[in-house]
Amino acid sequence: MTSEDKVQDLYFQHRVHVEQLEAEINKMRVWINDLQAGMYINCVYCGHRYGPDDEMDATMANALKEHIERCPKHPMSDLKNDVRMFRTAAEKWQRIAKEWERENADLRNELREYKAKVNPILEELNKEGLLT
Ligand SMILES: [Zn+2]
Repeated sequence: MTSEDKVQDLYFQHRVHVEQLEAEINKMRVWINDLQAGMYINCVYCGHRYGPDDEMDATMANALKEHIERCPKHPMSDLKNDVRMFRTAAEKWQRIAKEWERENADLRNELREYKAKVNPILEELNKEGLLT
């Protein structure tokens, strides 16, 4: 067996193992959804409750996930606010940085024009020995 064959063999063995584990995880997810379907689920932060009789398209886990994203008392709300704040600040600083870039480019152009005017004069003065 060449080393290439060994690598392929190992890959195949592990691929099968991963597929088995994924199948097992999916089975467990279905099982969890079945168990939760007949239960009440509460948000531990605000107490909002979803019951087995509530009409929901999604699973209970998804319903809770969706609630958590909107719950004002869940720590995720603070994180979302922080993200919003940082994003706003980052956008503001990006605008400022762009303005500075433009100003910087303007100043560079002014400096280039200034040098273009002054350098010939300096060269002339230097030729005549007026610069020491
Ligand atoms: Zn909540």
